[in-house]
Amino acid sequence: MLVTELLPSPFQIIPQPQKTELLRGKGIEYGGLNCLVLEGGMSRPVMGEILSLLTESGKSKGTLTLKLDNSAEVPGSVEGYVLTISNGDAKIISKGEAGLFYGCQTLEQLLEDARDFNTPIPACKITDSPALSCRAVHFDVKHHLDHINYYYESINRLARYKINAIIFEFEDKLRYQRQPLVGAPQAVSIDEMAALTQYARERHIEISPLIQGLGHATFILKHQEYQHLRELPDNRWAFCPLHEGTYQVLFDLYRDAMDATPGSPYLHIGGDEIGNIGLCPRCKPTADKEGMLILNLYWLKRVCEFAEENGRIPIFWDDMILKEAGVYETTYNEKISREKADKVWETGEVKLEEAISDFPKNCIYMRWNYTMARQPGNIMALDWYQKHGLKVMVATAVQSGPAALFPFDQRVENVSSQGTIAIKSFVELATEKGTEGMLCTAWDDRSPHMETYWRGFIASAEFSWSPGKRTLEEFDFAYLQKEYGVSMPKYADLYSRLRDAAVFWEKAFLKKGSRMDRENALFTMPGLEHWLLPENPDESVKIDFSKVLIELPDLQNQGQWSVTYAQRLAEADAISREYQYTSKTLKDLHNHSNRNRYHWELFSAINDFQVTAPHLLIALEQCDTADKVSLESGLANVKAALSEFDQAWVKLKETYGKTRFIASPENYVPDRYFHFASQREDLTWMIQVEELFHKNIIQWIANAK
Ligand SMILES: [Zn+2]
Repeated sequence: MLVTELLPSPFQIIPQPQKTELLRGKGIEYGGLNCLVLEGGMSRPVMGEILSLLTESGKSKGTLTLKLDNSAEVPGSVEGYVLTISNGDAKIISKGEAGLFYGCQTLEQLLEDARDFNTPIPACKITDSPALSCRAVHFDVKHHLDHINYYYESINRLARYKINAIIFEFEDKLRYQRQPLVGAPQAVSIDEMAALTQYARERHIEISPLIQGLGHATFILKHQEYQHLRELPDNRWAFCPLHEGTYQVLFDLYRDAMDATPGSPYLHIGGDEIGNIGLCPRCKPTADKEGMLILNLYWLKRVCEFAEENGRIPIFWDDMILKEAGVYETTYNEKISREKADKVWETGEVKLEEAISDFPKNCIYMRWNYTMARQPGNIMALDWYQKHGLKVMVATAVQSGPAALFPFDQRVENVSSQGTIAIKSFVELATEKGTEGMLCTAWDDRSPHMETYWRGFIASAEFSWSPGKRTLEEFDFAYLQKEYGVSMPKYADLYSRLRDAAVFWEKAFLKKGSRMDRENALFTMPGLEHWLLPENPDESVKIDFSKVLIELPDLQNQGQWSVTYAQRLAEADAISREYQYTSKTLKDLHNHSNRNRYHWELFSAINDFQVTAPHLLIALEQCDTADKVSLESGLANVKAALSEFDQAWVKLKETYGKTRFIASPENYVPDRYFHFASQREDLTWMIQVEELFHKNIIQWIANAK
């Protein structure tokens, strides 16, 4: 018997199994398995396309046997399994039905490769179990809903990679019964969510709800009927933590959310980025006398008690308690040294420990950090919870930064690394620390298409089950093969180029900064923080890009404009040349994929859309440098660029619309705040800059004649 790390090429399994041994003798060919035998009294697990074809027609050549087995050979976790492939048969043993299900997923992936590469699976024995017991991803429907069948398909995709939980952030997209005002007109019904929850459970995925509570509550407090529950009468962000009505409303929403996810383990109660509490006449005395930490913990205790009474484990974003103890900055600021962090924690720990009896013990404290997460203070926070017997999970992010088209990746311009490299880093830290699990968040603030999250979701599946095995480059290779049945080297390179073009689109027509910068978007309230929401956000959070748009070429004084924007035009030129490569590569990936082709269709639509920005700038440059004769053709090129944009925009909406709703119903009560995607009730929030800039251009063309 040969012990090896990996099966020989071309076989790839995501997540990489813990241990693989090659055996003597022959394995199985694609099509070699015919029947299924179940031993141990369990029902047939849900299977993939290939294994679903097996019939339970008695033992013959080419049998897959599934067996519940308590022997020492089987990994202790109910999600663990042993898969043996030998002499034309396969056998999966496990202590639990989840393990049998995961063994089948592994076998399905191997059979796919055997089919796609026309190569038999070698005789082998795979012994496998997860490093983290909770491996969750985040569905955030704050500013959009996907079609329900897209959620069903997403569950199939996640189950393949052994993700076992979804934290579904309902916001106002659940049709609440007990507080019906909160549910938006397009909300999903409780019955429909319960059906989705059941479907997921059959695939060993538990859907648990996230209902934001104390802060982040504009979706509730925007309604006048709840105004009396606000901490400050003119601020829609936060509830008053000492008003009993707060708990009546929240508990009603929790009850509905639990009805929508019957039997699920968790209730995520949010609790991050609160601010502006401890200020009302009810709260101020407590805040002054006992402090803000105690006031925050009062709310936390109440909601955790509710969760306990209702058989749920509460999950809580932990930033506010760390903030009130004075240690929060050490968890994210990469410039804070180990020595400095030690010092801050010395004082902070005293505050935390004074309040330790108020920390709910049934709660999971979710340490969120969307960078590499190796800041000394971040590690100290994880250690502090564990030292005090408090349960902790980590939250990383596939999308947190200001990106509307393609989420961040590691080659990004900012100091903190994001994307798959950050996911790998924090999730692997979580496995080293032995935390309860991980959540891969996918924030909807700028509402990118959910399809753009898959590489990150699947990376979190890889590294939470099987940390430290694959490099990111090896992961990308396996990801393309498993998810699409294609192969290309250095996929990160292609992705970075797409992302670079997206970054250019974000800033192409603005004097400085990006359309995603709060400073550019929110002139009336620069530096706006979540909790500084004004009463009439329609007015004071209004985006006014007209003040920062670049001017157009002065045709009476040609050549100046091209000098002013020389660097930008050089970049536009580079992106437009890169586009030749990126658009062709995306087309090839689409044409060669044998599954999930929509992914590349969407990527192409985004890429064709974002390249219209450099194209327009290049056409304007032509006008700026043209003589009288060639000015006509320059102007014609500008018009062509505008019409290219119109077509790409129509195509983008059409492509988005295949899996998501692209507009809210007319009677939707707007939930405006600084989130870019909350500015309009349809996708046009994305193109507010173009709306203005193109209008200026049409006027400018008219004047040029
Ligand atoms: Zn209050």
